[in-house]
Amino acid sequence: MQISTTANPRPVDDTRLAEILANPGFGQHFTDHMLTVEWTPQEGWHAARIEPYGPLTLDPATAVLHYAQETFEGMKAYRHADGSIWTFRPEQNAARMVRSSQRLAFPELPVDDFVACVDALVEADQRWVPGSEGEKSLYLRPFMFASEVFLGVRPAQHVTFMVIASPAGAYFKGGVKPVNLWLSESFTRAGRGGMGAAKTGGNYAASLAAQREAIEQGCDQVVFLDDQEFRYIEELGGMNLFFVHADGRVVTPETGTILEGITRASIIELAGKLGHAVEERKFSIDEWRDGVASGEITEVFACGTAAVVTPVGELRSPEGVTPAPSSTELTMQIREALVGMQFGRAEDTFGWMHRVV
Ligand SMILES: *Cc1c(COP(=O)(O)O)cnc(C)c1O
Repeated sequence: MQISTTANPRPVDDTRLAEILANPGFGQHFTDHMLTVEWTPQEGWHAARIEPYGPLTLDPATAVLHYAQETFEGMKAYRHADGSIWTFRPEQNAARMVRSSQRLAFPELPVDDFVACVDALVEADQRWVPGSEGEKSLYLRPFMFASEVFLGVRPAQHVTFMVIASPAGAYFKGGVKPVNLWLSESFTRAGRGGMGAAKTGGNYAASLAAQREAIEQGCDQVVFLDDQEFRYIEELGGMNLFFVHADGRVVTPETGTILEGITRASIIELAGKLGHAVEERKFSIDEWRDGVASGEITEVFACGTAAVVTPVGELRSPEGVTPAPSSTELTMQIREALVGMQFGRAEDTFGWMHRVV
C-alpha cells in the first residue's frame, strides 16, 4: 500500500507537547496527523494518506450516522528505554478487524496493510510517544465507517478506514486499585448470533445504560450476563474476566458472544506457561459467589489494552454483595509480565512485540 504524506504545517510546538505528555489523561489530546484510506467496489482500498489532524466534513446522509456500520480497534505504542517504539501483537488487532468487518459486511482490510498504516502514523507522530516512565503510551485508534452518502440500508459502497492517535497516561495513577463491579440484571450487551464478538461502536452504545446504573450504585463498571439464562458471566463493557482458583486453575468465559480480547488471549498463553491450567468455558454467577465465599476462588481480574490487568474487588447486585477475593498475587504477576514486555523491561519470550521505530 502506497501512503502519501502531507506534513502538518503547524504541528504542536515542543513546549506545549511537553505539557501534554506530562499529563496526557486519556483520549483528550490528538497528534499532529491522521491516516485515511478509502474503499469503493470499483477501486478497492485506495488514496491512503497521512494528513494534518482535523475535523471531517460529512454529508448528513452519511450511512454510519444512521445505521451504525462502524468497527474499531484499540492498541498502544510503547517507548522503550533506548528510545525505540514498539506495538504489541498488531497483527492480532488487524485480524480482529477483519473478523469485525465480516460481521458488519465491510470490505476486509488486509492484515499487512492495517499494520503498515498504524506503523506509518506512529512513525509520522513519533515525538508524541511518551517516555516509558510511569507506563505512559500512545493510544492508537484504527476505525472503519460507512462513508457512503445514501439512506438505503445496505453494505456501504464507500468505506473509510482511519487511524488516529492520542497520548495516554497510566491507567492507575497512584497504584493499582481493585474495581468494584455491578451485576446488570436488566441489560445484556450481546446475544447469540449478534455482534458481541465484533469490536463495533454499537456494542458500546448498548452498554451505556447499564454502565450508568453501575455508577449510580457506586460501582466502577458493569458485568454482563448471557442473554439466554442471565446466568453465565460474559464480560465487562470493555474488558474480559478471569477467575483464579486456590488450586492454581484459571477460568475465563468461553468465546462466542464476548469480544475476543488480545490481552485475554495473551494471558491464556502466559498463565499456561507459568504452569496454570487454563479453562475456557461457561462460568456462572453462582460459581463466582460460592467460590469467593468458600475460598475456592482467590482472585478475580479484568483485562484489556487500556488497563492491561486490573484486580476486581466487590461484586454488587440487588441480591447483595460478594466480597473481594482474598488475593491479587497472580493478577499482579501477570500484569507485571505483560507490562514488562510492552515497555521492554522484560524479555519478549513469545515474540509478541513489533518494532515500529
Ligand atoms: C476491546 C475490548 C476488550 C479488550 O480487548 P483487548 O484486545 O484486550 O484490548 C474487551 N471487551 C470489549 C467489549 C472490547 O471492546
